[in-house]
Amino acid sequence: MKKNNKICAICKRKVEKHDNFCNYHFLALLNIEKNFQTWKDAYENLNWKEYLEKLIKNEENGIWVQEVAKYLITEKMEGSNV
Ligand SMILES: [Zn+2]
Repeated sequence: MKKNNKICAICKRKVEKHDNFCNYHFLALLNIEKNFQTWKDAYENLNWKEYLEKLIKNEENGIWVQEVAKYLITEKMEGSNV
């Protein structure tokens, strides 16, 4: 992969800080990861995928978070191993 022409995996904007996401989706990803800890405290058996599904269903999370959550779920289904 060349460094100079990376684009966001979701919206195809030019990537600046993160390898796969533009600043908007990268910030959403950070929030998703940060909030997962809080959610895990609230729902004992919550796993990552269930958490993402909750995010997608809850429109209060905003479009960026929903798009990132959808992307992450798709990635998981295709067998990526993070
Ligand atoms: Zn993006």
